[in-house]
Amino acid sequence: MALSGAGSQAGDGASLDLLFLGTGNSTSYEGRALSSFVVNGRYLFDAGPMALQQLKKARIDPSGLQVVLISHFHADHFFGLPFLLLEYWVSGREDELQIIGPPGIEARTEALLGLAFPGLPPRDGGYRRRYTEIDDGVSGEAVGLQFEAFEVEHVPSLRCFGYRATIAGRTLAYSGDSILCRGLLRLVAQAEVLVLNCSSRGDPVHLAVSDLATVVGHAPATATAIVSHVDGAGTTGSSNVRVASDLDHFRF
Ligand SMILES: [Zn+2]
Ligand SMILES: [Zn+2]
Repeated sequence: MALSGAGSQAGDGASLDLLFLGTGNSTSYEGRALSSFVVNGRYLFDAGPMALQQLKKARIDPSGLQVVLISHFHADHFFGLPFLLLEYWVSGREDELQIIGPPGIEARTEALLGLAFPGLPPRDGGYRRRYTEIDDGVSGEAVGLQFEAFEVEHVPSLRCFGYRATIAGRTLAYSGDSILCRGLLRLVAQAEVLVLNCSSRGDPVHLAVSDLATVVGHAPATATAIVSHVDGAGTTGSSNVRVASDLDHFRF
């Protein structure tokens, strides 16, 4: 694995290129942008409110995104969508955009867009927004990405999902926001790269640093974990656990 600075358009092919747009929790610890990362310049995992801004800082063309996968509807993971969708309207996007997310993804996204920027064209005006609603165990394919959704435990008021994603034979697991739970342990099995949203403050609704060894222990021995959603110091890693910062770029 090589770790390099941000700034280049991630490529296709046999690599997994992860660019972390935001690595903070919902209170923006240390001024970090909120949760989002891009894989191979094409697949956006969660849409934190600063996702568009961070894409432009990293000189990644937002129009290259083809698929957005949303883990749950907390604002730090979801409220970046209206800015992205406005960008696509302003820039005259023509390519279809696939948006994958929990039950209610279409109604919630369209309602949020209507609140944020009333009067934009409907979902099939100009470029088309195509929605896929997931549930536990639902799998599918979107623009070269095979995905399977795993329901994880986070807060009682919202359902949350992690994703196992395979791109050109390479497999990534994204936890979403989760405590240590059966769904998360099923998710990380067979994945080469784990992106784990974590809390180092003993927060009861997120994975704790002390849970990392258990999670990594359920993944293949060669797997690398990357910790994100950082909310404090002390999220230290071993050789196979890295801690991401905003605009970090990992290639596997
Ligand atoms: Zn959350
Ligand atoms: Zn969160």
